[in-house]
Order: sequence, then structure tokens, then C-alpha cells
Amino acid sequence: MAKLIEGKLVAKKILENLSDEILFLEKKPCLAVIIAGNDPASKIYVNSKKKKAEEIGIKSIVIELPENCTQQEILEKIYTLNNDESVNGILVQLPLPAHINTKEVLEKINPIKDVDGLHPYNLGHVASGSKPYAHPCTPTGIVRLLEYYDISVSGRHAVIIGRSNLVGRPLSYMLLNQNATVTICHSKTTNLQEITKQADILVSAAGRKNLVNADMIKEKAVVIDVGINRQEDGKLCGDVDFWSVEPKASYITPVPGGVGPMTICSLMQNTFDLYKIQNKI
Ligand code: NAP
Repeated sequence: MAKLIEGKLVAKKILENLSDEILFLEKKPCLAVIIAGNDPASKIYVNSKKKKAEEIGIKSIVIELPENCTQQEILEKIYTLNNDESVNGILVQLPLPAHINTKEVLEKINPIKDVDGLHPYNLGHVASGSKPYAHPCTPTGIVRLLEYYDISVSGRHAVIIGRSNLVGRPLSYMLLNQNATVTICHSKTTNLQEITKQADILVSAAGRKNLVNADMIKEKAVVIDVGINRQEDGKLCGDVDFWSVEPKASYITPVPGGVGPMTICSLMQNTFDLYKIQNKI
């Protein structure tokens, strides 16, 4: 039986400590979120980020733009926030409406305010093994979970399913920087099961329900499920068939309550870290 990696609990502890540190600051850190369009899931995510920020003493600003907003309107908002000294972190909620050039939007954020760590400056530093202003939030959350549970990475084979800029790619570099041997799989990988069965640490970030079952993992593997999918009954589930995999794994994250809370936690930590960098603390 696997040990449950309780992201919700770990995030709560980290945020309590962060809240204590923020309490003593005269000027509070500030996170600005831009959301464009009407995607219901994005609205829920933005609301929970705002709520969590306020709970721990971070000021939050949400800028809502309509679905038919122009590229120029978004870039102007970013320009204003880049030049607003009271704003420490800028996050653009993804996905943006289809007509918007997301790459250009992310590249216009001042890297020192890039709280999601998705600007090429920050991703480049992660890729080259040097220090970015901010690491991407979800991979950071995963690395912190592994650290919290004392799961060693060095010398172990980490297999990541998914190669997005948001999760798979930056995580691969972060684990490589910790001396893991890393393999990335994606939708064109032909022998997925053959590769996943070699993983000491398996991370699934594909967004495909039941993609990973017990036949795909090695005995005692550490299984990290990043996926967020909807079941027929409306409940959330990950990419991993939890009940088949759990008896074979050594550690496993649940969905919900695993990686998700750690992503928000990293966002708050990044806001605070950027505040400290900008204020030379
Ligand atoms: P994404 O941009 O859609 O990337 C998904 C990746 O998975 C792609 O690289 C894709 O391959 C690969 N993939 C899809 N189906 C596959 C299959 N059958 N076999 C192997 N690889 C496959 O998604 P994302 O933004 O990285 O997010 C991934 C999942 O994590 C989603 O469910 C998302 O909701 C969730 N998520 C959760 C959190 C959290 O905090 N828990 C944070 C971020 C994302 P190709 O590149 O070849 O298309």
C-alpha cells in the first residue's frame, strides 16, 4: 500500500509560515491577475487564487477582460502593471482566447514580476540550471512535495508524461538539476508503457483520465498525478487510475488534494519571493 502524498496538508503548513512572515510587513506584497474571456474553469481558478492570497495577507488585483478583447488591450494592461511599483507579481490566466498570441503576451511581462515563471528569461534560467526570478508554479509544487516527503531524486529515473511549458518541460529541467535521469513522454511516444515501467518517479501531466494503470508502473514507484479531468458525475480525477496503482506504488498523490494545492502555494511563495527581490530584502 502506498503512502499518500498529502499536498493539501503540506500546502497549508507552507502557507501558514508564509502568512506569519507577511504579517510583519508594513507594505504587503501584491499579486495582479489578468483573466480574459469566460472560461468557467479559469474563473474558478482565479477566484481561488484571489481568496488564498487575501487569506495570507497578499493584496490581490483581478483585471477582467472580455472574450473579444484585443491583443493590444492585454499588452496595455501588462505595460501598466509592469510600471506599477505597488504590483510585485503579474499572472496571466491561461488559456487566453484563441485569437490572442499567448507567447507575445507572456514575453511582455517584466521577468522580475513574472510570478508564474513562464517568461523565456525565467524558463531559460531553469533550463540552463541557473536561478530564475521565479520557477513555474506546478513543477515547483511537485519538487517541494518530493522534498517534504524526503523522496530522493538524485540518481533516480524520473519519467514525465507531458511536455508543456507549464508543467512537463520545466519539471524535466528542475529534476535534471537535482541529478535525476529524466525521460519525457508525449502523445507521439510509441512505447509509453515500456518507458513508464522503468520510472522510479512517474509524473503524469497529460490531462487524460485513466492514462496510467498498474501495468504501467514499476513496483514501489513514486507516482505524481498532475492531471485534472472531469468524471461523468462531475467529480475531479487525475490521469492515474488511483485504486489500481496505489497498491503497487510506494508514494502516490491524490486528485484532488495532491499537486493542485501546491500550485497555488507556489504562486503565493513566488509573489512573496518577487516582493523580496524587488524590495532588496
Ligand atoms: P497540455 O498543454 O495539454 O499538455 C499535455 C501534454 O500531455 C502534452 O505534451 C501532450 O503531448 C501529452 N499527452 C496528451 N495525451 C497523451 C497521451 N495519451 N500519452 C502521452 N502523452 C500525452 O496540458 P498541461 O497544461 O501541461 O496540463 C496537463 C494536465 O495537468 C491537465 O489535466 C491540466 O489540467 C493539469 N494541470 C494541473 C495543475 C495542478 O495544479 N494540479 C496545473 C497545471 C496543469 P503533445 O505535446 O504531443 O500534445
